[in-house]
Amino acid sequence: MTEENVRVVVRVRPLSTKEVEKGCKSIAKVDPTGRRIDVVNPVDSKKLTFCFDALFQDAEQAEIYNQIARPLVQNVLEGYNATIFAYGQTGTGKTYTMEGEPTPEKKGIIPNSFAQIFTSISKAPPETRFLVRVSHLEIYNEEVRDLLSKDHEKKLDLKEASDRGVYVKDLSSFVVRNAADMDRIMELGNRNRSVASTNMNATSSRSHAIFTITVECSTEVGNSVKGRSIRMGKLNLVDLAGSERLSKTGATGKRLKEATKINWSLSNLGNVISALVEGSSHVPYRNSKLTRLLQDSLGGNAKTVMCANVGPADYNYEETINTLRYAHRAK
Ligand code: ADP
Ligand code: MG
Repeated sequence: MTEENVRVVVRVRPLSTKEVEKGCKSIAKVDPTGRRIDVVNPVDSKKLTFCFDALFQDAEQAEIYNQIARPLVQNVLEGYNATIFAYGQTGTGKTYTMEGEPTPEKKGIIPNSFAQIFTSISKAPPETRFLVRVSHLEIYNEEVRDLLSKDHEKKLDLKEASDRGVYVKDLSSFVVRNAADMDRIMELGNRNRSVASTNMNATSSRSHAIFTITVECSTEVGNSVKGRSIRMGKLNLVDLAGSERLSKTGATGKRLKEATKINWSLSNLGNVISALVEGSSHVPYRNSKLTRLLQDSLGGNAKTVMCANVGPADYNYEETINTLRYAHRAK
């Protein structure tokens, strides 16, 4: 794997209206070159600087899409696998980045990728056939649940087969024919995500959600099945569990167990990504469900983007530094 296959980028959201009203100061500043971020410690005014492949501050959704997702979706249409992760503390914009909001200019990566995929399909020559399928699952406490199933609280098992690698047994997947179908499915998954978390007395910030789009393309050559060539690409859009530390939430009992599992799986993800970047011969995919499940879309020919989200407000200093350190180590 070459280093270009893994990109780590940072997105800094604007101060929220509430933060402005409370008089919060912005302590994070992206350099105009877009390669460096300075974060000022609100206690002693000391500055820390981090460099990344790309950084965005107060960027529009379209810019984020064009810079980090569009090239990967193109790869998927060409038959490669790709994964985009949104990492960060709860409230920093992971879901906004992945899903966004319904107004056209606020749509996130998932709906924008639907649009790109179906626009590209509509321009393909008639002898090329496409089959687009989606699935949406959640990993909570190292348990996998189907967000598109009626029984979305049932735990599903990971299986492994020589012809298809690691997969989730009984996971539903839907064939979609247009972007509107896909939007509806994304909304269904989201409703189930919040219902499931309410029933389990958790919040969606404690689970990883993986939205997967598979694009299969076949070309008929002279009407013969033999002459048919098939390629398949897979795009995984991952809204990770909140990265905030235990101490801040004062967790005990069940919450402590949850938080420990989240920290464990996020730190394992960081280990996997840095092993890939370093070209290490041992990549610890098998240590967590998240990386086991994404194994065929991380490394090899697959492209990966880790988007670290941070909030600029002073009270988030510690978490912002933690997120930037995590992202920097993954680089
Ligand atoms: P997370 O999923 O990381 O917990 P959210 O995506 O839910 O965070 O974002 C928290 C709040 O901040 C939401 O109200 C969202 O609309 C807003 N927000 C996040 N990122 C941005 C942004 N880049 N521009 C404007 N509003 C944002
Ligand atoms: Mg969220």
